[in-house]
Amino acid sequence: MIITIRNSASSDERAQLMALLCRLTGNSRPITPTRIEGSEVIALDGSQLDEQAGSLLRQQGAVERLIPVKTPYKLVSRVFKPQASRVVVGNALGGTPVTIGGSVDAVDNVVSPIVIAGPCAVENREQLLNTARAVKVAGAQVLRGGAFKPRTSPYQFQGLGIEGLHLLAEAREMTGLPVITEVMEPGLVETVAQYADILQIGSRNMQNFPLLLAVGRNSPGRPVMLKRGFAATIDEWLLAAEYIVAAGNPNVILCERGIRSFDLSTRNVLDLACVPLLHELTHLPVIVDPSHATGRRELVPPMSRAAIAAGAEGLILEVHPEPGSALCDGRQSITVEQLQSIVREAHMVASSF
Ligand code: PEP
Ligand code: MN
Repeated sequence: MIITIRNSASSDERAQLMALLCRLTGNSRPITPTRIEGSEVIALDGSQLDEQAGSLLRQQGAVERLIPVKTPYKLVSRVFKPQASRVVVGNALGGTPVTIGGSVDAVDNVVSPIVIAGPCAVENREQLLNTARAVKVAGAQVLRGGAFKPRTSPYQFQGLGIEGLHLLAEAREMTGLPVITEVMEPGLVETVAQYADILQIGSRNMQNFPLLLAVGRNSPGRPVMLKRGFAATIDEWLLAAEYIVAAGNPNVILCERGIRSFDLSTRNVLDLACVPLLHELTHLPVIVDPSHATGRRELVPPMSRAAIAAGAEGLILEVHPEPGSALCDGRQSITVEQLQSIVREAHMVASSF
């Protein structure tokens, strides 16, 4: 259940509502409402509340509306917010802003897909700035680059850390492209948010709950791209998104990046059916990462077209000026020429609906 609070509620009425909620739910900790598009809301697991509790709540002066939402996730549900969310990216740090999402509901389908592209990892200044220039010329709107890399082995390149963030900021200044980079630790959220236009939560951290709460609370509303855990169900993924939104940051973008299965022919299995399914279940924008999903550069162009055909509102692609010498994920990194055709094809597929 979601309770929306009347904007004009007095502090006494609010206090009374909070006391009643604590009593009804057996919760002794204070309940903090979440602000979404100008109104304050409280999401609750309604299974704890019976009919009588509902009518008690309805009588409260502070309550505007009770919205029944039966799924375990509430604020990210389409039942709560029927209009698709549009997340504005890049309006805080001097880049050229772009909007991600909303194309499923656009009557005229004029919302074009967003292409995010760049290296897996920021390796050095020359590599990043050359790639950034090429990515911009190819028509991508956001630059990616990992500064803190979650590597499977402790002996693999771990990223340049803070120096990588400085280079990303320089690339933004040079090209005007907003930048996205991964944050792995709750304690680094504020620092990364000083440099990044979008905070990325990687597949391995999708259920790192302290990290989800930190990007919800401490990232001045910076958009968050939440990648699907490689063994996560849709419900688990949406509940992870719910953590971020309930903690105060509604600007979440979901990214399907493949799930693990028995067949090692591709790095992961790209679950494209999740794209239209998510559009039914949630108002959040959905983008697809065919690079990590396939692990093979030659599969990235066809799966990019397929992702857009399935309704994805954007793509995130790994690009490297010399994929053969990349310090990370070279096998799946496309060339700049491939990126140019993918951008062109993505627009063609999106406009052909
Ligand atoms: C990445 O995008 O840099 C990355 C590490 O991807 P994932 O978390 O999906 O494995
Ligand atoms: Mn990678």
